[in-house]
Amino acid sequence: MKYSEVQNYIGGQFVSGGQNFLDVFNPAYGSVISKVPLSPSEELDKAVQAAKKAFPAWSNLPIKERIQVFFRYKTLLEQHIEELTNLVTEENGKIYSEAKAEILKSIELTEFACSLPQIIAGEVMEVSRGVECRIEKYPVGVVASITPFNFPNMVPNWTIPNAIALGNCMILKPSELVPLSAGRIAELLKEAGLPDGVLNIVHGGRETVEAICDHPGIEAISFVGSTKVAKIVYRRGTSNLKRVLALGGAKNHLIVMPDADLEMSASNIVASMSGCAGQRCMAASVMMAVGRVDHIIDRMATYMKNMVLGEAIGPVISKEAKARIEGYITEAEQQGAKILVDGRNRVVSGKEEGFFVGPTLIDYVKPSMKIAQEEIFGPVMVIIRTSDVDEALKVENSSPYGNAASVFTESGGTARYVIERASAGMVGINVGVPVPREPFSFGGWNESKFGAGDITGRSSVEFWTKPKKITTKWNIEAATNWMS
Ligand code: NAD
Repeated sequence: MKYSEVQNYIGGQFVSGGQNFLDVFNPAYGSVISKVPLSPSEELDKAVQAAKKAFPAWSNLPIKERIQVFFRYKTLLEQHIEELTNLVTEENGKIYSEAKAEILKSIELTEFACSLPQIIAGEVMEVSRGVECRIEKYPVGVVASITPFNFPNMVPNWTIPNAIALGNCMILKPSELVPLSAGRIAELLKEAGLPDGVLNIVHGGRETVEAICDHPGIEAISFVGSTKVAKIVYRRGTSNLKRVLALGGAKNHLIVMPDADLEMSASNIVASMSGCAGQRCMAASVMMAVGRVDHIIDRMATYMKNMVLGEAIGPVISKEAKARIEGYITEAEQQGAKILVDGRNRVVSGKEEGFFVGPTLIDYVKPSMKIAQEEIFGPVMVIIRTSDVDEALKVENSSPYGNAASVFTESGGTARYVIERASAGMVGINVGVPVPREPFSFGGWNESKFGAGDITGRSSVEFWTKPKKITTKWNIEAATNWMS
């Protein structure tokens, strides 16, 4: 194995996570590179105790002192960008430029955390003569962050800098498919001066997540992953009276109008569906082709056919994911859809055991087909033909998901029409991947997110803090009034 066995990180030390392990793969080569522990609840409990021990001192520091750690962490991310990029490529498979973009986003997330003191200054007002009300924000306590496989570095950094800068102590439970980046994040934070126990990492799968939902010492849980598991975590965590924000899966619709710019639309749409091999919760997966847009579809097909698999597009995460994605394509074909570009059964020379699926474009898909409704999470774009924008919006609105939607058009009026009617938390105009950048917050609607608020940006402050409302009167002459 290229890397030694993955360990938990508790109280500032790397320690064994128990006796049961899963293999960790490099998806480009299909080779085993490490093994990850499936930690039982006793290991989680040790992490909770370490976080509880660290909490009083960490939460008592003024925020301006706490964020100094994140200024240093940001510099360390910049200094180690090559190494961190390569680690993401190694365990997730995404190509170098995509992995580097992920680290750059982690740097931006950290930069936002450094600016928190400028954002969270409290509110104060004289509410009656001589009486003042103010709000102070307190950390929630020991919190947990459960993350998916598709962004091994960025998604942990959606929560770590903000939650910790706001005074919380955290247990991170990374995806068991990509456990390596988390350990480097912990090492860099330690080097940046984060006290032991403020961030802890417990590796594992279902059993570890269930233990997090049940542990009485954990006050809040953020989750990012599939809708199926988001529902489990939201239900189980809230039934244990915890604060939970659970982001789920997606099926993102792109509405393409006949007036859309050919070049911008074709290149953006292909980048959206193929980036990170289609394994982004913001990836477009359904193109609503309104009227005569065949010239755009033809250009997209040309781009896809010219993409070099293994260079312009990386592998999907596992053998099982490859089989699942190819199964969806075959089923659509059997149901009468027309495959314009076929990514099945592709082999990359020198990486014959890798889990590759080529970019795939499927036309004449019906809204009732499984491939039009379910999240595929691979480089597959289906085209549904409609005669007008209302019909396109009807299909978009009927999806249970609601992460992102986009429209490609040169008309401001059409763009506004779609913004108001799309049932999605993030909407793009001539943008294939409408990810809001800091300080704007990230979060979908419907079954793409359970819980109030968003996971990043200003909105996350509410999730990671408890407001304390203080009413003060010092001067004796302030009269007693109806509220006293
Ligand atoms: P996943 O739901 O399989 O796993 C996410 C986490 O849940 C992992 O840490 C995993 O160990 C744990 N888990 C898996 N099965 C579980 C179970 N039965 N009970 C309890 N815990 C369990 O997701 P994934 O495959 O790692 O990631 C891909 C999914 O994440 C896609 O659906 C994608 O859309 C979604 N995602 C959403 C966002 C967003 O912002 N909405 C961002 C990234 C990824």
